[in-house]
Amino acid sequence: MFRIPASHALAFTTAAAFSAALLWAQTKTWTPQELFTRNVGTKEQQTKPFPPHKIIGNLYYVGTETLASFLVVTPEGNILIDSTYEVNVPGIKKSVEDLGFKFSDTKILLGSHAHGDHQEGDAMVKELTGAKVMAMAEDVPALEVMKPGGKPHPIDRVLHDGDTVTLGGVTLVAHLTPGHTHGCTTWTMKVQDAGKTYDVVIIGSMGVNPGLRLVNNAKNPGIIDEYERGFRVMHSLACDIPLGSHPAMYNMTEKYAKLGKGGPNPFIDPEGYKTEIAIEESAYRGLLAEQQTGPAPKN
Ligand SMILES: [Zn+2]
Repeated sequence: MFRIPASHALAFTTAAAFSAALLWAQTKTWTPQELFTRNVGTKEQQTKPFPPHKIIGNLYYVGTETLASFLVVTPEGNILIDSTYEVNVPGIKKSVEDLGFKFSDTKILLGSHAHGDHQEGDAMVKELTGAKVMAMAEDVPALEVMKPGGKPHPIDRVLHDGDTVTLGGVTLVAHLTPGHTHGCTTWTMKVQDAGKTYDVVIIGSMGVNPGLRLVNNAKNPGIIDEYERGFRVMHSLACDIPLGSHPAMYNMTEKYAKLGKGGPNPFIDPEGYKTEIAIEESAYRGLLAEQQTGPAPKN
């Protein structure tokens, strides 16, 4: 333990902010490359379906080893979050069917952010299911240029920060957590399981990719403000069950291995949420500090 002088303690207005700051201080600084490699894994892992499974309540995993897709099941049809690469869509369909659901019951398709590894397959999902595709306004320009095989990117409803998506008594809230993309979206919802209600957070991504320019980025001068806003939102969300656009964000493989072996549901992991924010924030703050003190870019 260490003691904090009273004057400094005043800076931490809430216990949550204090614990977040403490955790950040204890976390090693991840490099952008380490974070990127952890998230995307190998080419093979990006396309190899992971065994589909129930996470909790009406929430299921239907993605690959390193690219997450989630299925929210309701009495009025289902919501799919992230189509990932188009090549993965048949595998997602099979995972949905292996769980005993119909892919054609997918009524709404949501996304985490406008990168190909998360939303390239949107047009194919729309073709196969007729789902309404909804996207955060700030990501629409990037999605509109995502045209696998020349297919235009479907967008049926444009969302704004705080908007809700409701189907069959289930409501998801879209939180704008920008930086990684302009419209990067973190989804929250409540799930019921064994008489209890839990807060789920599906992290869009606060990752800084290798080669990213934060300081003096002429093409994207607001990028630091976006990341700061994104982290503020991430810290403000209540979370019992952390999930993310890459399963490594919540240690899916380790948790999956514990399923069915007795004990509490391994996906209930409020500390894991804080740890993941600390990891992603360490990479961002490390890169920011490096660029603030290092030589100016050559461009
Ligand atoms: Zn991304």
